[in-house]
Amino acid sequence: MVIVFSHNPQDRTVFAAGTTTVAKLNSNVSTDKVWLSARLEPNPDGHYVYAEEDDRFTAACAFASIANAVAATEESWGESIQWATRREKLAVIPDAGQDLNAYYMRARGGVFFFHDTDKLTGETVYSGRSSEVTSHEAFHAILDAKRPEYLGSWDPDPVAFHESMGDIGALALALQNERVLDLVARQTGGDLSKPNAAAALGEELGLAINHKAGHNVTGGAWTRNAINNFTWVDPDTLPSEAPADQLSSEPHSLSRLWTGAMYEVLTGIVNGNLERGLDVKSALRAGGEELLKMQGRLLQPGMAPEGSFRFQDMARALICSENELNGGKYSALIAQVMERRLILPQSAGLLAPDPGAVHSVTVTLEGEQFGPFAGMEVSHKVSGDRGSVLENRLAQNLARLIANGEILLTLPNQDPSRLNLIKADGEPYRGVVRWTGGKPVIEPTYVIG
Ligand SMILES: [Zn+2]
Repeated sequence: MVIVFSHNPQDRTVFAAGTTTVAKLNSNVSTDKVWLSARLEPNPDGHYVYAEEDDRFTAACAFASIANAVAATEESWGESIQWATRREKLAVIPDAGQDLNAYYMRARGGVFFFHDTDKLTGETVYSGRSSEVTSHEAFHAILDAKRPEYLGSWDPDPVAFHESMGDIGALALALQNERVLDLVARQTGGDLSKPNAAAALGEELGLAINHKAGHNVTGGAWTRNAINNFTWVDPDTLPSEAPADQLSSEPHSLSRLWTGAMYEVLTGIVNGNLERGLDVKSALRAGGEELLKMQGRLLQPGMAPEGSFRFQDMARALICSENELNGGKYSALIAQVMERRLILPQSAGLLAPDPGAVHSVTVTLEGEQFGPFAGMEVSHKVSGDRGSVLENRLAQNLARLIANGEILLTLPNQDPSRLNLIKADGEPYRGVVRWTGGKPVIEPTYVIG
């Protein structure tokens, strides 16, 4: 018997939930890579399809979406994902309490979703019901499996890249769904520069965030939108916060630069598919498949940097992975987009530092700007060149994160793994102080929203 689950490839502001099957489903609501951390009783007919009012609806949607996101990625990339959590399966926690958010937590081995009331509509919004939100979190886990040092970086670029990978993955998977394809084909006629439901990510959650804030903090009826014209600015010079139409160094904000560039690459791929004579839906579907495969090639060993990096290095790695693993098919398209976005100007050349060369950069924070964190040690792994400039940059990044309240100060007797690593504003801390033998070291939390 084929078992089906409640599922929405978008969310209810776009269209009503439907159903989906789960590839390689085991008997206990799990696959070999994903398990549901909540009991879920099927209906008498054996299916996991529920009305929205049913408590079980969110769990069915979240599990099915994430299990399928992982299976589709493994199939596309031709590999088996080994989680950075060091556990066999990724846990899905479909409703972990009140918040308008979702997290991947490495130490807790899973992805966490929440609920809260939309201040305008009075409806309860569950982040675990939107496949765009759940896929986004799944791709944090997938990227952490492939490049574990990125969540350990104190630079803006790798964390922003994490956010972008979440959005690009969600977008690529949405374009594999028939209902989304029908809608996007109608909305765009194949011209992805036109607004559409796949480019607009996390619509319902974004609306609720805006209603809570009392104004439009996300820039529209979405959490983020892949259609944008942002061009590169040195993230070290960006403000910590900015209105939605400008970039800041905050990872979700900065991620839109890379997402926008990758969306432009997708648009070029789809245009090529249409020119080859594919119908609109086939061109979109093949574009989504290619976008996902491209991420897999980029994350092969020796391609994307292993340690912290700057977007320019990642753009070089993307072109390199296209050249070496895809016969250069989309290299010119990518180079053109990266140049226009000022991420990789032609003058910067394509000679990348060896992505395999990773070294530790460590500083002891000294100076008033570090407040109670002065005297503490912090380090991360960096790809590419060495030099004292990296130590200065690390100290400057920490000063910024400390000023923004992103580092959790602890007492010598406190164990970070027992603390709540989420700030009062609902976002995770980036770092936490761990005391080992009386010596304080600032560590990454490995939690990302
Ligand atoms: Zn995220």
